[in-house]
Amino acid sequence: RAKEQGRNTYQFYTEGMQDREVMRLELDKDLNHALANDEFVLYFQPQLDLNDSSINSVEALIRWQHPRRGLLPPVDFIPLAEESGRITDIGRWVVMAACRQLAKWQKGPYSHLRIAVNLSGRELDDESIVDHIQEALESNGVPASRLEVELTEEIFIQNIEHNLNQLTKLHKLGVHLAIDDFGVGYSSLGYLRDFPVDLLKIDRSFITDVTERHDDAVITRAVINLAHNLGIQVVAEGVETHEQLTFLKNHRCDLIQGYLISRPIPAGELERALSAGLLEIDTPVGS
Ligand code: C2E
Ligand code: MG
Ligand code: MG
Ligand code: MG
Repeated sequence: RAKEQGRNTYQFYTEGMQDREVMRLELDKDLNHALANDEFVLYFQPQLDLNDSSINSVEALIRWQHPRRGLLPPVDFIPLAEESGRITDIGRWVVMAACRQLAKWQKGPYSHLRIAVNLSGRELDDESIVDHIQEALESNGVPASRLEVELTEEIFIQNIEHNLNQLTKLHKLGVHLAIDDFGVGYSSLGYLRDFPVDLLKIDRSFITDVTERHDDAVITRAVINLAHNLGIQVVAEGVETHEQLTFLKNHRCDLIQGYLISRPIPAGELERALSAGLLEIDTPVGS
């Protein structure tokens, strides 16, 4: 019996693995058609400026409206797209879609909004991405200062010279550069000296317990001070409570982003929330 069970377990396991591999292959095939079929969509998550409680920027977060599987989050397909190289085309679509949205907003009451897009290291490897960004801005009549690019610390570990070159070009165009998930990478602080960085986004893992854990509070305060002394603005990611907001405001954090303000939402929903004043959270007076 034991032997039988063992065999069953083994079969179950390999079947599970095969299922996953089949799913992966299918997903990769579907990814191939997703761009042509217009299945990607950008959701937007607002960032609240703690200085005047206004919203001047939103982060674009990609979703895939899969014909059979429903709305898929990036974790379900971005890693796969990075492996297959499909990420290059997806990234170009993201930049173009963001610029089209900025062009739309430019005409109405949301002309002050900036959009931040996420670019992975793999996307920055592509020599022509900077030209593509410039073209997307120009063909939509959007000033470069409306666009922000978020990069994680991985770009400071490999291809450093190439990446510095790419980011310097982007920065010269007037595009703002943000370091995403700051504090969880394995890179040195030296790049803050060498790279043109405008914003640091403190990773959510430091913010979650920032009002309960002394160490998280110390790290968060230190990052804010470090950034400010270098002339860099700070965004706190994953803010979910009023207590976190108060802490961050008291310690001079510039912007917050998180479910407390809003989840990522489609453009239409964002416009409705903005015009109804739903995102205007009262921030306490700093002490
Ligand atoms: P990220 O850039 O660090 O984005 C923040 C993620 O945290 C988003 O997940 C967002 O929905 C989630 N989040 C925001 N506020 C809160 C909060 O208060 N609590 C919690 N628990 N979560 C919060 P999402 O949209 O699933 O994106 C995950 C990651 O996928 C992003 O992390 C980014 O690295 C990547 N990604 C998203 N869009 C793109 C894209 O267009 N291109 C590339 N290359 N990567 C993308
Ligand atoms: Mg991001
Ligand atoms: Mg992040
Ligand atoms: Mg993150």
